[in-house]
Amino acid sequence: MNEETVWQELSEISADPPETRDKCLKCKRPVPVCWCPGLPKHPVNPASRIIILQHPAEAKRCLRTAPMLALGLEPEKCTIYSTLYFRGKKFPLSKHEGLAEILNDKNTILLYPSPDAIALDKLNPVGVNGQKPYNLVLLDGTWPQAKAIYHSSPPLCFLRACKLVGVPTSEYVIRTQPTEGCLSTLETGAFALSILEGDPELKDKMLGPLHYLYFS
Ligand SMILES: [Zn+2]
Repeated sequence: MNEETVWQELSEISADPPETRDKCLKCKRPVPVCWCPGLPKHPVNPASRIIILQHPAEAKRCLRTAPMLALGLEPEKCTIYSTLYFRGKKFPLSKHEGLAEILNDKNTILLYPSPDAIALDKLNPVGVNGQKPYNLVLLDGTWPQAKAIYHSSPPLCFLRACKLVGVPTSEYVIRTQPTEGCLSTLETGAFALSILEGDPELKDKMLGPLHYLYFS
């Protein structure tokens, strides 16, 4: 290699490579572990929408499934609120715009296994008996975190509580949270929406990103 070639090659090296070089711009994960190819080709657009109340520790975890749920749906069909600012009775409106309205809507339901929770499939699917689209509230975090959100937020206790019954055990959860016996946020949202919308295919369209997770 002569000197000229060396200089030529050096001049072609970018002095300041973009920081996002190895990250997927959509899911923000390193490219080799990006799960975007599993997302539905077109974001799903159900009549109902999902509201995720996210524990601050969950937002920091590196592998989480709430973004898979959000990116698989039309943007206005999934809203994520951080519970970082929850203090007892009130949700500070500046940080949770629109949340108070949602909590006062009679079509809002909370997925939470409280003692009086009713099975989701006992509810009218959207359109049956004049049922309007639902606002489905999910608590995102580990089971102890979800419990903490519920018990520190009285407005949530007034919502109609519902639970998923008879859904298959999660392969994802078996490998990541073996003792908790619950589904990932993506699975929970996808199964619940499928039931509420009366559309069994909806969940299959949405669960794709799970097949792109690699476990070492
Ligand atoms: Zn990606």
